[in-house]
Amino acid sequence: MFKAVQIDNLLILRSSLIESFGGLRHAFSTRIGGVSPAPWDSLNLGLDTGDSRDNVAKNRALFTAILNATPAQLACGQQVHGNTIALVEYPGLYPACDGLITREKNIVLAIKTADCVPLLLFDPMQKIIAIIHCGWRSVRGNIISNAAEMLTNVHSTKISSVYCAIGPSIRSCCYEIHADVAGQFSKEFIIRRDGRLFLDLIEVIKSQLLAAGVPEQNIDLSEHCTFCEKELFFSYRRDGRRSGRMMLAAMIE
Ligand SMILES: [Zn+2]
Repeated sequence: MFKAVQIDNLLILRSSLIESFGGLRHAFSTRIGGVSPAPWDSLNLGLDTGDSRDNVAKNRALFTAILNATPAQLACGQQVHGNTIALVEYPGLYPACDGLITREKNIVLAIKTADCVPLLLFDPMQKIIAIIHCGWRSVRGNIISNAAEMLTNVHSTKISSVYCAIGPSIRSCCYEIHADVAGQFSKEFIIRRDGRLFLDLIEVIKSQLLAAGVPEQNIDLSEHCTFCEKELFFSYRRDGRRSGRMMLAAMIE
């Protein structure tokens, strides 16, 4: 179960399952509580959206403060819709990757989304976190099993004791796709309505997590659809090139 929490002016979401463990702080942002004007109103955390760098810097300071951190502690992936995961030891921008793993304390792993699925994995035994930017291309490219392999091989994580939180994203109510994309996924994940095709990317992600060895009861799922809920979320599909960005951020204490 996810819960919404108001902190100062910001509205954020947290996974109750992940929060039940000590040792990490995490937050999924909404668009509520920042300084950006329309159409980025108001907590836009993404550069290259047309919003001013100054506003984004202020918003990132507001959001990282939720984790008792600062923007200088952020480690971000470049996000190229690939299947590469980076091992993070320092803050900064990690090129050509859509997932980040760390066991270092006080580094804020962060990914930006505006429809794609933000996924958080936590190994509470060893205090290791991974976050993944799950667009359909990355999921199709098995980024989830890549992350699971890396956790196992590099950090000796037992995947059966990993806990996951799947944040707000565009859901099958709104995620219309063309036949060429539909053809890349098993039929069970494609929904037909009025002659149109929709992808249930959440079910694909869940099936891949289960296949990697994550128990179903270890998966927490936000019910929010970014496209449907304009008051709460940015949506690239809905708002276009000048859409703002939300952020998933997590840090080991
Ligand atoms: Zn929807």
